[in-house]
Amino acid sequence: MDINNNITAVVKRIENACLSCARDPKEVKLLLATKTVIPDKIKIAFEAGQTLIGENKVQEIKSKFNELAGFPHQKHFIGHLQTNKIKDILNHNVTCIQSLDRLDLAEKLHQRLTFEKKEIDVLIQVNTSAEESKFGINPEDTVEFIKQVSLFENIHIKGLMTIGLFSAETEKVRKCFRLLKQLQQETILQNIPNVKMNELSMGMSGDLETAIEEGATIVRVGTAIFGHRTYSDSYYWNENKRN
Ligand SMILES: *Cc1c(COP(=O)(O)O)cnc(C)c1O
Repeated sequence: MDINNNITAVVKRIENACLSCARDPKEVKLLLATKTVIPDKIKIAFEAGQTLIGENKVQEIKSKFNELAGFPHQKHFIGHLQTNKIKDILNHNVTCIQSLDRLDLAEKLHQRLTFEKKEIDVLIQVNTSAEESKFGINPEDTVEFIKQVSLFENIHIKGLMTIGLFSAETEKVRKCFRLLKQLQQETILQNIPNVKMNELSMGMSGDLETAIEEGATIVRVGTAIFGHRTYSDSYYWNENKRN
């Protein structure tokens, strides 16, 4: 597996997808999903010019922090966030939490931000596939949820995030992405203070072309760059669903 070649191939896929729908490739950011990926491999990607990573586990953010500190990069949190991990997130230079999906999390995040005199960007995670196993706010509750979160002045909503349906049927996957785009448009119409809707984080290794066709501004790619992971994704996506 050659990380450099894989990055080149993914960048090419992004460009081709943009070309096919007359979008400017500059509108689409590549986020490297680095769960389970060791720092030495992430450094190869940084040396190849990549600057945006996403982690799912606070523990991994902490364990990789010192080794990656010398490389200029931005780090987003893309996993399920437990309220007792908020402090760690704020102490490790996470610039955006892409997975805000509960009011109690927003409340506790805001308390901590206020206490530390900090601010943070977030995306609202929406469960567009109606799968019980996935985190995220229900589509029909999204606009109301955004209105509530917008009142926390240190939390800046920048857009929406979703994990689409896992399916080989492109049109079913596309429906999820289209729904996210639709919710973005509905939210924009509401003109909510302290809310921006510039970012749509959707699309992964298997479906990034479809996501770009439907308006993605951030695609989150792991496997296509770093190879297959030993853990199944359910380990990251459904653990502690009770939280
Ligand atoms: C792992 C992960 C990705 C990347 O998935 P791949 O199929 O490996 O590209 C994207 N988003 C989230 C939230 C993830 O956990």
